[in-house]
Amino acid sequence: MLGYNLLLQFKKNFLTYFILLLLTNCTTIGFHQDKVREAISFGEPISFRVCVIKEKGILDQDVWALFEVWNEELSLYKLKAEPTILLEMERPGFYGSDILEYLNNTRMPDQCDRLLYLKGRTWGDIVFEIFTLGIFAGIGLKLEVQGAVEARTNTKGYIKAKYISTIQLIFTSPKSTLIHEGYHLLGCGHQLFMKECYDRIRDVKLLITDPERDPNFFPVINTSGKKILKRPF
Ligand SMILES: [Zn+2]
Repeated sequence: MLGYNLLLQFKKNFLTYFILLLLTNCTTIGFHQDKVREAISFGEPISFRVCVIKEKGILDQDVWALFEVWNEELSLYKLKAEPTILLEMERPGFYGSDILEYLNNTRMPDQCDRLLYLKGRTWGDIVFEIFTLGIFAGIGLKLEVQGAVEARTNTKGYIKAKYISTIQLIFTSPKSTLIHEGYHLLGCGHQLFMKECYDRIRDVKLLITDPERDPNFFPVINTSGKKILKRPF
């Protein structure tokens, strides 16, 4: 009976976790609809430049490997992300919100269309992970965020680029996190099915011909639907 209760409890936690994952910090941004996507014209192939800020311990080849996987996904939309490593630095604060604040206060250089911060893994993180895993096991909730994109312009974000073999790896990985946050960097929100996001990416690509656009900036439409045609601060 005890075993059965534990199993029930686990199932309940798993379900809660799965729903939370879908609604908030999900590995998937929505379910793909191949037929719908194939019927949409995404126009000409185009590249955009992603400037990378990374923490110590993340190697250049880690960056290339991440982008290789992201670019496989982006090829669905005739898009390509070209990484440039801007700098290596110490984390500006412990929490994800500290990183977002840092990014919001960092001017995006002229050669960048997007700014991506790759978060590493410190001993402090490991302790925090164990602590949040405890909470995960206890009430089926997970505090740790794998990545985020600021919602003002959808041009700056971070991902956690290093993991160990904790339970998280069952649900997520740096590569799937980059794909997820990568969609936010193109203006997509969360949805159950991807159609809305496909339309958004098509609309973003259409902005290339907008006369108001800064010709040296790959535009985006932010989460609330505002066109971002010029490089934000
Ligand atoms: Zn998300």
